[in-house]
Amino acid sequence: MIKKHCSFCDATESEVNPLIAGNGVYICKNCVSSAYKIMFGDTTVAQTEQDKELLETVNNLMTPKDLNKFLGEYIIGQERARKLLSVAVYNHYKRIFKTHELKDKETEIAKSNVLLIGPTGSGKTLMAQTIAKVLNVPIAIADATSLTEAGYVGEDVENILTKLIQAADGDVERAQKGIIFLDEVDKVARMSENRSITRDVSGEGVQQALLKIIEGSSVNIPPKGGRKHPNQEFTSIDTTNILFICGGAFDGLEEILKRKQGNNVLGFGHEKKTKDEKKPTFDMVEPDDLVHFGLIPELIGRLPIIASLNEITEEDMIRILTEPKNSLTKQYQKLFSIDNVTLNFEEEALLAIAKKSLKRKTGARGLRAILEENMIDIMYELPEYSGYEVLITKEVIEDGAEPVYIKKPTQKIA
Ligand code: ADP
Repeated sequence: MIKKHCSFCDATESEVNPLIAGNGVYICKNCVSSAYKIMFGDTTVAQTEQDKELLETVNNLMTPKDLNKFLGEYIIGQERARKLLSVAVYNHYKRIFKTHELKDKETEIAKSNVLLIGPTGSGKTLMAQTIAKVLNVPIAIADATSLTEAGYVGEDVENILTKLIQAADGDVERAQKGIIFLDEVDKVARMSENRSITRDVSGEGVQQALLKIIEGSSVNIPPKGGRKHPNQEFTSIDTTNILFICGGAFDGLEEILKRKQGNNVLGFGHEKKTKDEKKPTFDMVEPDDLVHFGLIPELIGRLPIIASLNEITEEDMIRILTEPKNSLTKQYQKLFSIDNVTLNFEEEALLAIAKKSLKRKTGARGLRAILEENMIDIMYELPEYSGYEVLITKEVIEDGAEPVYIKKPTQKIA
């Protein structure tokens, strides 16, 4: 049998590249896709298998409500931020995949990059990671403080893109639809007359460099990262469709908000009034406040969604320990069960862990370390306690006491 060939590129028919027959001619799937690009100038049509998967996710199940529900399985509290992020992500992927279907080709929908403002350990990184997980897109996490402008000592801004390609197993197409989470953007704010924090003088330069990749451009990067040097092959990556989620604690922003609030209070008795005023919250943050803080307006303009996260309370800590799908206590319980040991925590013990963690002022980040410190000795002896229940009491956490070991009733074999 004669194998059919694509009349355009001469490719033979295959399962992955089927042919469509015309009047004595054939066209393969790849050429159909290229033709679409040429005709409609749209590079965002789903082409790869991953694209299709992502498109299906966006099309079929992931409404903003679904996304939020998924986030809620892992993230405690932060309802407003979760909602904002869900809508932003939904709009972002809709913009990539769905706009070519619309008749209106003129109106360009801007990218919904997100800025998450919240104290350390409040779940900013976790949110970005969870969103990447639900959408099954690669994610690169980087710290803005480690970045410098190209040419300075430190990590080049472009290295983040290398990281993203690595997270996509070298698949540039896939990386181009991924997520970059950039933490501590507040630390690259430039000096402003309002604050006296000494900071890396290249802050503004880093912001400019970041702006370039956030804006959406084609960037040439050395495929293995590291410094650029001549005679090196480069990988080209288009950042137009990469979703940027930036995070930062923005210490000092509260002062700026307070001042603004103060300025808005007019009339007599002002002094007295400000005393009773409500404490400003980061929900009130406007782009202008961020300019005062020291971010360049162009960068702020590229982060149109601003969401704030609350400080983790004692009550949140206890919930974080027990409720999320892969909560720390569930993880330990699973580990213990492999040795046929049932692990339980007294309510009081959970509270003691929460209190200890609060003292460390690192949000929920401290929980893992505290648990680990207490579990090491117990896990050391664990295999000897097969068939037991281990009960973690308040004393275990507070005084390093032994846990209570209870022999489980042996099941009778019928
Ligand atoms: P941030 O990026 O805000 O500094 P992270 O997201 O890295 O904080 O949080 C550190 C860890 O604390 C997470 O891996 C998670 O275990 C826990 N955590 C923090 N906030 C939350 C939250 N709101 N819900 C559930 N877990 C949380």
